Amino acid sequence: MADALAQILGDIRACQRCAAELPHGPRPVVQAGSAARLCIVGQAPGRKVHETGIPWDDPSGRRLRGWLGLASAVFYDPARVAIIPMGFCYPGKAGSGDNPPRPECAPLWHPRLAKLLPGIGLTVLVGQYAQAWYLGGRRKATLAKTVQAWRDYLPLGFLPLPHPSPRNQPWLAKNPWFEADLVPHVQAAVRSLGV
Ligand code: SF4
Repeated sequence: MADALAQILGDIRACQRCAAELPHGPRPVVQAGSAARLCIVGQAPGRKVHETGIPWDDPSGRRLRGWLGLASAVFYDPARVAIIPMGFCYPGKAGSGDNPPRPECAPLWHPRLAKLLPGIGLTVLVGQYAQAWYLGGRRKATLAKTVQAWRDYLPLGFLPLPHPSPRNQPWLAKNPWFEADLVPHVQAAVRSLGV
């Protein structure tokens, strides 16, 4: 299984499927090991991560690691944590934010990766794109309501979170219950995996 995972990670890193749609070209950013227990599904790399090739190597990542209660050494250990964004390549800028993740990416790669990650006990769904793909019609009317209903999803192996981007600060300010009340539960759920 480890060989098959190494093969598919190599295939992803060589992927050119939507190269024509990527203003800065393909640079897939992904992390996975066959023993990983926690999976983090985010949106897509931003400009800084596109340059470094290190997932969540930005203010969003610092905040996400805080929410999860994970030190960098654990977060970046593929034997413990898989990091699989909805789009593996930076989709370029759109207005004040980034373009959405390329829609080709998750359908092409996620199901194949999932088959090779049998130890995943919890998949954290960061932001609306991950929640739309993995929860579909099980989402609530808004992202806030979906995040608040986290107990509904935990038995399914999912934990929906808001995006930790500084651009999402207004949402976090409007929903102080998230960091005050829910983050301790998030950390407990991660700790229970023994990562
Ligand atoms: S975004 Fe995904 S599908 Fe498109 S080139 Fe990158 S890895 Fe391939």
